[in-house]
Amino acid sequence: MIIVLKPDAPADSADRLLARIADAGLQPLHMPGSERVVLGALGDERILSELAIDGDPAVESVKPILAPYKLVSREMHPHDTVVNVGGVAVGGAKLVVIAGPCAVESQEQLYDSAKAARDAGAQILRAGAYKPRTSPYGFSGHGPAGLTILREVADELGMPVVTEVMDTADIEAVAAQADALQIGARNMQNFALLRAVGKAGRPVLLKRGPAATIQEWLLAAEYLLSAGQAEVILCERGIRTFETATRNTLDLNAVPYVKGKTHLPIVVDPSHGTGIRALVPAMALAGVAAGADGLMVEVHRDPARALSDGAQSLDPAGFSAMMGALRPVASAVGRPLP
Ligand code: PEP
Ligand code: MN
Repeated sequence: MIIVLKPDAPADSADRLLARIADAGLQPLHMPGSERVVLGALGDERILSELAIDGDPAVESVKPILAPYKLVSREMHPHDTVVNVGGVAVGGAKLVVIAGPCAVESQEQLYDSAKAARDAGAQILRAGAYKPRTSPYGFSGHGPAGLTILREVADELGMPVVTEVMDTADIEAVAAQADALQIGARNMQNFALLRAVGKAGRPVLLKRGPAATIQEWLLAAEYLLSAGQAEVILCERGIRTFETATRNTLDLNAVPYVKGKTHLPIVVDPSHGTGIRALVPAMALAGVAAGADGLMVEVHRDPARALSDGAQSLDPAGFSAMMGALRPVASAVGRPLP
């Protein structure tokens, strides 16, 4: 619930109420930045009502947060959250493009792919050192060696980097090299991972599960916020439907819907969303037109030789052409590229 204090409430009211909330076993929240002192209380609905905070003399009004996700909800936090990924603002005035190969394959492969992405206007590098693969025989990434390459290339090119962490055991190592941690679609409801990543002290890019409803996705984000990580970027990457012509069905409904429900930024991944290189530019433009704060696009120096996701990866010329087509669309919706 959201608790608004009276303008003339005694100065110690906030601390006193926060202590009452904590003593009841609820999570107290101090929400600075508004004209009035606003507090929050999260937890078991029954305890919240037994607490009868609205009867306190310092309290002007109490409003329940109706959404099942609380910290993530716009009811709790009306203004847009801007996430800082190594100096790049995601969710601010400018559109952000995250690009790079699906996986770190080698120093040269990553460097060439990342440089092409950066030179065409990508601001954040992506590439996986730990790859979730449907088959146990697929290339599953170079692990720690891949992380080292990723950091070196990112530093050489002056780009922040986001990369996936799949296992709680690897969080420390990944967080040591990455500016933001990616939770992959398959792990969106790995609650132990969400809780641990929420405590890792790095912004998080949370992909939507292939069969997750928007509510389940936002509740997954709630795990991260409730664990202490306020900087979360949502990523729509397509869902599993009856349609088999494309790898996934990119749910662009989710973009304006999510924008209405949460203050967190959202990016669209047209690469995994379609699985087909030729469709990526159109869906990238559509995602931005729908109101996305940015894109995540797979770019490989030589997609035909990629160890994963080559069929959906753009080559440098293709990515550059996509960026050219994107600029007027981004400007038209008031989110220009830098
Ligand atoms: C990826 O970004 O390369 C990836 C594995 O994505 P997803 O989790 O969306 O399948
Ligand atoms: Mn991929």
